[in-house]
This record gives sequence, structure tokens and C-alpha cells, in this order.
Amino acid sequence: SKEEVRHLRQTFLSPAITHHFKDPVMIVEGKQQYLYDETGRRYLDAFAGIVTVSVGHCHPKVLRAIEDQNKLLQHTTTIYLNPQIAQYAKELTDRMPGNLKVAYFVNSGSEANDLAVLMARLHTGNYDLVTLRNCYHGLSETTMGMMGNSGWRQPVPCGMGVRHALNPDPYRGAFGNDGPRYAEDVNDLIQSATCGQVAAFCAETIQGVGGAVPLADGYLPAVYEMVRAAGGVTIADEVQSGFGRTGSAYWGFQNQEVTPDIVTMAKGIGNGLPLAAVVTTPEIARSLATRSHLNTFGGNPVCCAGGRAVLQAIDEDRCQENSAKVGGYMKGQLQQLQQRHDIIGDVRGQGLMLGIDMVKDRNSKAPATAETAHVMERLKELGILIGKGGLRGNVFRIKPPMCFNMQDADFLVEALDTALCEL
Ligand code: PMP
Repeated sequence: SKEEVRHLRQTFLSPAITHHFKDPVMIVEGKQQYLYDETGRRYLDAFAGIVTVSVGHCHPKVLRAIEDQNKLLQHTTTIYLNPQIAQYAKELTDRMPGNLKVAYFVNSGSEANDLAVLMARLHTGNYDLVTLRNCYHGLSETTMGMMGNSGWRQPVPCGMGVRHALNPDPYRGAFGNDGPRYAEDVNDLIQSATCGQVAAFCAETIQGVGGAVPLADGYLPAVYEMVRAAGGVTIADEVQSGFGRTGSAYWGFQNQEVTPDIVTMAKGIGNGLPLAAVVTTPEIARSLATRSHLNTFGGNPVCCAGGRAVLQAIDEDRCQENSAKVGGYMKGQLQQLQQRHDIIGDVRGQGLMLGIDMVKDRNSKAPATAETAHVMERLKELGILIGKGGLRGNVFRIKPPMCFNMQDADFLVEALDTALCEL
């Protein structure tokens, strides 16, 4: 029973592992964009296991690929040749622009960003990193040091050489949507807080945990130029924004018309399988090959078979197109809701990566943190599981599986309307 599970979890699992909701939901089954609890009650999943179930829960194509590979071979590591990892590397890099043609598979977003930073440091011979305030790149020692959110930092030494630039946040930032203006801060940082040379600039192309915050227009082109002039490489964290989720592009960085030197991916890449990757240029990849490097599970044949099926499902199910259509429609509906509810300060994001910034007052933009938590609970009662984030926990995050449809969007917007009217 649910009570037994709750007891086992409380007794035998680390108390650091927390759950959403005062009365936690128990999920035992998933299908497409729906989740089911132990009583058979259906929930609309607007958060996709923290933006991970990209093509839908238990997608038949992904299931079949995993099952077939599982029967043949589960694991050997990369010390022998295997067709799955080789084919997958080709199929994944085929979807990348420019010279981004070499993949390294790992198991999580933190690992991918760790490896990207290592590659950048080896390749450039420099050490310093520039990241953004309000960013999230993982919880390993290196990535926690890059963290731009105190809520996720532990009081341990980390982050040597990491500089946090002003966040080019069009809603809360000082310079509105003027990307090049924020970019000047990166140049100031490089000139004042480093030796003038950096290893890398790393940013999400839409901040995820930070609350679906897009980068101000023209930010990345200006920053990439400055960083390269200072001897650094550019890292795009596509852990949340990749694989068509933004609708307007397959990769989030394409929305800013740049091509990074290193791209990290996780979450949606495997639809829930532990799979992640770093994709870079042959030149940067070679810098890592001067010494030994190994990842035991990275490129595991079962995960690679699943990853290949995810790529196919994104194409065949037209996930990117659907993200653009349904996400665009839902954003419009949410903007209409904003006209009737003063507590909605900002509706933002692209495709099926949307954020609703909840404020006590539209002028001061004071975060409506308690109200956000309350509405999230109410939405659960109404049958919708949504995410929340932002520095002060006042931003709803809508990032469902990409099979989310128009009726799902209407259902979510109506439920939100109901919950806000009750406030
Ligand atoms: N990068 C981004 C943008 C993320 O959102 C996350 C996870 N929330 C990570 C990296 C870290 O991924 P993982 O939890 O798989 O280590």
C-alpha cells in the first residue's frame, strides 16, 4: 500500500531525497503524457519527470528497442566494439550543426557538464569558467561550483575559478531584453576577475531549474565572440532545452543563432533511461584523448538502443512541430489568463518549455512563493502534476512530454484559472 511505501522510503532512503506535495503522490504507471497512481487515478503530467520523458511515458518504440537489446547484450563497456554505440553516435551527431561531430556518452547531466568543463580546460590550457547567475548545471563538485542558485549549493568548498555573470533575464534583469548590454558584463568579468584568459563560458539556452528563463535577444552571439577572443570555448547545456522541446529549433542554441564548441545533453535524450552525452568538435575531442578517460556505463548498449529509438520517435511523432504548435497555443492561453490574474507577472518560454512567474505585485515583482506552492497543490487535486522553480520557488514550470496535445493544454489552463480564482 501507499502507506507501506511511504514508511519504507522514510526509513530506508536518505532524508535528502524529498518529494513534491504535502501528501506525496505515488505513481505506479505511465502512458504517453499521463501518469497513474496506485488507485488508478489519472494525472496529466506537465513536468515529465523533471523534463526527462521527452517522447512520452512507455513509448512503444523505445520499449521495443530496449527489450530487443536487453535480450541480446546488456553490458560490456566500451573496451569492445558494439554496433549500438557506434550507430548511435552517428545518428546523434547527424542532428548537430557545423563541426559538432564527435560524441562521448555518459549517464547524467552532471557528468556531461563535468566532462565538458574538463575538455574545455584541457583544450584551452586555461582554468577559469564563466557561468550565469540563476543557472543549474548539476550537483557534482564541479557543477555545484558553477551553480547560480543558493538553494542547491551546499556549504562546502567548490567553484574554484568560477565567475557568475549577470543573468540576461528579460523579465527581472536590469537591461530588459538587451542581450549585448548584458554581454558587456562577461567582458568586464574576464578583464577584472581572471588573468584575461578563460577556459569556457557555459550556459543553458533557456534556464530550466531557474524558471524557464530565456536569454535576452542577441546575448549568446556577443558573449561567444568575447569568450573566444579570451581563449575560451563555449558550452551550451541542452539538458532541458534540446531535442525539439523549444519547438522553434531542435537545439536551444539555434534560437540565438550560434553554434557552440561543446554541447551537453541528458534528461530527454533517453526518455528516462540513464543516458547523457557531450558532443564536440574533433579538435576538442582530441584534447581529451591525450590521456586515458573511461566511463563504465556510458554508451551502454541498452541505453544507446533506447536513445536511438528516442531520436526516431522525435522525428516520426513530429515532436518538435507539436511542441511549437501546442506550446505556442498554450502560451497564448496563459497570456490571456495573465490579463485576468494580477498574480501572473510573466508568461515566458518557448514550445513546451514554459514558465509562469508568480508575483505579489506587478511593479515590485515580489515573488509570490507561498501562493505558487498552494496553487501547485491545488492543481494536483485537479489532476495535474506541474513543476516549479526559480530562485524563490515562484515560477511554474510547464515541460510535459512532447506528445502533450491541445486538449491537455486547455485542461491545464482551465484548472489553473480555477485555482487562481480560488486564491
Ligand atoms: N543541466 C541542466 C540544465 C539541468 O536541468 C540538470 C538537472 N536538473 C542538470 C544539468 C544535471 O543533470 P543530472 O541531474 O542528470 O545530473
